[in-house]
Amino acid sequence: MSELTIAAAARARLLELAQAAYPEEGCGLLLGVGARVEQVWALANAAADRRRHYRLDPIEYMRAEQRADAAGLRVLGIWHSHPDAEPVPSAQDLADAWPGWSYVIVGTSAAGVTGLRSWRLRDGEFLEEVISP
Ligand SMILES: [Zn+2]
Repeated sequence: MSELTIAAAARARLLELAQAAYPEEGCGLLLGVGARVEQVWALANAAADRRRHYRLDPIEYMRAEQRADAAGLRVLGIWHSHPDAEPVPSAQDLADAWPGWSYVIVGTSAAGVTGLRSWRLRDGEFLEEVISP
């Protein structure tokens, strides 16, 4: 099983951003140096039905990537949240996924965060990866 390392402050920020988007799906980028996530950024959810889907805006994504480059950070993956649902990839999540990135999903509810899991595309399917501090 592969492993994704998320710095404590970045993890706290991730949960905060995901919960702030509730009851809609929040989304954004996981950024780091090497294979360790050091920063988590929120991007706008450009999906038509934001309670059930997320979509990154390509222009906003491009600008964020340039900002990351300038800051010496690399995009390591994408995070999004699943309001009132398990943090398990949907068929749409699988269809949208790129190899080489981590896909972190945060489960959210009215009462708070319900789960945090990470997935990576391998041979056309998602394999879960361990999240370590
Ligand atoms: Zn999803």
